[in-house]
Amino acid sequence: MKIYNTLTKQKEEFVPLNPPNVGIYVCGPTVYDYFHIGNARSFIMADIIQRYLRYKGYKVKFVMNLTDVDDKIIKKANEEGVDAKVIAERFSKAFFEDIEKLKIKKADIYPKATEHIGEIEDLIKKLEKKGIAYKVNGDVFYDVRKFKEYGKLSGKKIDELESGARVEINEKKHNPLDFALWKNAKPGEPHWSSPWGEGRPGWHIECSAMSMKHLGETFDIHAGGHDLIFPHHENEIAQSEGANDKPFVKYWIHFGFLNIKNEKMSKSLGNFFTAREFLQKYSAEVIRLLFSQTHYASPLNFSDEILNSAQKGLEKITNFVQEISFRENIDEGSYPDIDLQKYYTRFEEAMDDDFNTPKAVAVIFDLIKDVNKIMNGGEKHSGKFYSDVKKFLDKTAGNVLGIIKNVNITKNDSSKEIDSLLNLIVEIRQEAKNKKAYDLADLIREKLSKLGYFIQDTKTGTTIKKKL
Ligand code: AMP
Ligand code: ZN
Repeated sequence: MKIYNTLTKQKEEFVPLNPPNVGIYVCGPTVYDYFHIGNARSFIMADIIQRYLRYKGYKVKFVMNLTDVDDKIIKKANEEGVDAKVIAERFSKAFFEDIEKLKIKKADIYPKATEHIGEIEDLIKKLEKKGIAYKVNGDVFYDVRKFKEYGKLSGKKIDELESGARVEINEKKHNPLDFALWKNAKPGEPHWSSPWGEGRPGWHIECSAMSMKHLGETFDIHAGGHDLIFPHHENEIAQSEGANDKPFVKYWIHFGFLNIKNEKMSKSLGNFFTAREFLQKYSAEVIRLLFSQTHYASPLNFSDEILNSAQKGLEKITNFVQEISFRENIDEGSYPDIDLQKYYTRFEEAMDDDFNTPKAVAVIFDLIKDVNKIMNGGEKHSGKFYSDVKKFLDKTAGNVLGIIKNVNITKNDSSKEIDSLLNLIVEIRQEAKNKKAYDLADLIREKLSKLGYFIQDTKTGTTIKKKL
């Protein structure tokens, strides 16, 4: 299996540090508002990656942090006249509700910055002791000049960055690129007592402290949106490697932006809609299919056109799953000449190649096309064949990509009259079978199927159910 590593700028063979264990850390949300579908792209692609690693048999420990102390949270709290905690709790709750609706599998741990102040302090102390961090009036800064490899992830050079016009000048800093590890408390802000006085942690140190606490000083995969390469992830490396003198992360994965009219979807540009709004109109599977049809690292331009196309694609998959779920209950023919293993191999080859989900989706559609051809061939086939096809879809499109809707075929609570009519039809069909009028019995079943009902002959009698 190969993964494109932002650190080495090449596709590398994936060799976990301690197989079959794999540790993954993904930068999660800052909980100050509902997240938008741009954020959702990063969360969903991370979800697909962890699901695929589990499919491959790895024992994954998946950690996603919640940034619950931050300027944006404080700003919102001040606007509403409430405690920052109230805002963070409200939007953490909303985050969990929304990811569940997006069919994102729960991470093993969701560490919160405010619950790791001790670890953050220890890390800053370590940096201070090594002379990499310095204190100025209650603030503590990281001295980027002290970390020789600064810039190795983003490919940026300190000198070039410094001469760049956009670096903010701060009198307190030795160097304009130095960044805050600890921020002196301002009135009205959440604060903790520390060796440097009352204050709160900087954003970058939170992720270094929390990832290392839960995954160790060196771990396998660290991921996040493309915007986090610099400065956030660059700074995480500087902090963690500066403190421990050992590699921090083996593979760095970055998700491309979700754009609208070629501009990054973001709160500040106002060109966004929340995952919550989206889910009121469309299903999780639609957005998951839409995202899966583009490679995780490429930019993706959101438009009505691709949304419509994903809807059509999903309809095709859903109808197909319904059809084969229906047919797996009718066991009355031969196993067709098709090698399903071939589709598993192609699916895995695609996913093994740096999680190439567009290719993996193409394999799913190829299978649907090929099985449809078999179904339309006029012959009857064994239920085993259909259940094998269903198993393939459950394992790949369902468990890995998350694009199979629940199509439970269960009896709904139709009215008594409908029940009586259905029973009448079952009786008539039984009568036809008793008289060996099998064509008529089949015709009744086919017509009912078109109406959304399916009849199943079992040893104990015939049942009729509505397809959902
Ligand atoms: P935030 O809550 O802004 O810190 O973002 C949470 C995650 O979403 C981070 O990994 C960001 O890189 C990612 N993200 C933000 N905007 C986009 C976007 N338009 N497309 C893809 N990922 C994004
Ligand atoms: Zn982070």
